[in-house]
Amino acid sequence: MARVLYVTIPADGHVNPTLGLVKQLVDNGEEVVYMCSEEYRDRLAQTGAQFRAYQLDEPVFRDLGFNPTEFKHPLHFTDFMLRGIIELHIPEILRQIETDSFDYLIFDSLFGWGGAILGEKLGIPTICSVTNLAFAEPLSQIVEVFDASDVDVNALYERVTQTAQSIARICNVPVPAIEDITRQFGDMKIVFTSREFQPDADKLDDSYIFTGPSITSRPDAPSFPFEKLRSPHDKVVYISMGSILTKDVELYKLCFAAFQDIPAQFVLSCGRDTELESFGDHIPPNFIVEPYVPQLEVLQQADAFITHAGMNSTSEALYFHVPLVMIPLSSDQPIVAKRVEELGAGIMLDRGQLTPTALKDALLQVLNESTYKERAMQVGDSLRNAGGYKEAARRIMEMFVPD
Ligand code: UDP
Repeated sequence: MARVLYVTIPADGHVNPTLGLVKQLVDNGEEVVYMCSEEYRDRLAQTGAQFRAYQLDEPVFRDLGFNPTEFKHPLHFTDFMLRGIIELHIPEILRQIETDSFDYLIFDSLFGWGGAILGEKLGIPTICSVTNLAFAEPLSQIVEVFDASDVDVNALYERVTQTAQSIARICNVPVPAIEDITRQFGDMKIVFTSREFQPDADKLDDSYIFTGPSITSRPDAPSFPFEKLRSPHDKVVYISMGSILTKDVELYKLCFAAFQDIPAQFVLSCGRDTELESFGDHIPPNFIVEPYVPQLEVLQQADAFITHAGMNSTSEALYFHVPLVMIPLSSDQPIVAKRVEELGAGIMLDRGQLTPTALKDALLQVLNESTYKERAMQVGDSLRNAGGYKEAARRIMEMFVPD
């Protein structure tokens, strides 16, 4: 039995895929200590891991004012990872485990250089938990950035350099090359998608293991009025922009305008931070609007999914054979959406150019042309056949057998 440290960032899209894997490791006899923010304690309880909360003086990254949809330069992403993730968590993790010992470490890929710091300090094998796509290049050089003409790049570079130097000093490690801060480190990388879905999979070395999404029950999922689905309409369309970028009320109003006359039941997850009052009397009768829904169960009832193409939402939908209309907002979402479109399982729309007509046309196309469903089934089967959390646990335990 090995003693494992699993550290993640406090975001649904980064915690959810780990639940099945953690439970499987525990079921296989590993002792897992899982660190995340307090809000995830209940979700982790089912896995049998020992939960430890970050004791942070500062709010988690969601509240620090970073808005990935406004990033204009690759260094904005580096700055976000440094100040929003690495600086907040890595010294705190090191402090909490000072007197502990572990056999191997699993860390979220968004820790980037932070994962390398932990590995170096602990002197144990490391596994990267890749809940985004895998990237041979640093993430900051790949994520979509927009018009950077009004960005003070020198000031940004200076801030990034100073933060990296400060973290290196606090953790007593060498200062990294700037482009390495956002790299995916780890002796092994567990990627929660299939090799078939991963773009340019042949450019990645053997340390990348594709196990498909880790779909498992979430005991803390909220209740939902399932009895309202399919009556009076026999089609169900689910809309969600994930768990972070949920405050675009104008986008939801566009959906109301586009779909109010379509004879289908729409389910909109509008995010826990969106005030339901902000919709006024705009909500049409064929919509159920909730701050948060049990997504895995709703997807199993859905005929189409309108999504920001977050990696998890996309994988979960395809896993359940649901075709997509995608409105990517930031990070790797444009890359994920492009891949789904290439594979024929959905249509990508541009948030900046979005109109009710464009939305309605795309949805009707996805609902009425059977190839989207067929391709979603093909991709979904590749995700199912990748082995999921059982395979992930097997590969990890096979590689890191303690002495
Ligand atoms: N999610 C959910 N209910 C909701 C909205 C989101 O369960 O109402 C879950 C969803 O199943 C997925 C995660 O939140 O596992 C969102 O992750 P994703 O990578 O799609 O987007 P992010 O939140 O990271 O932008």
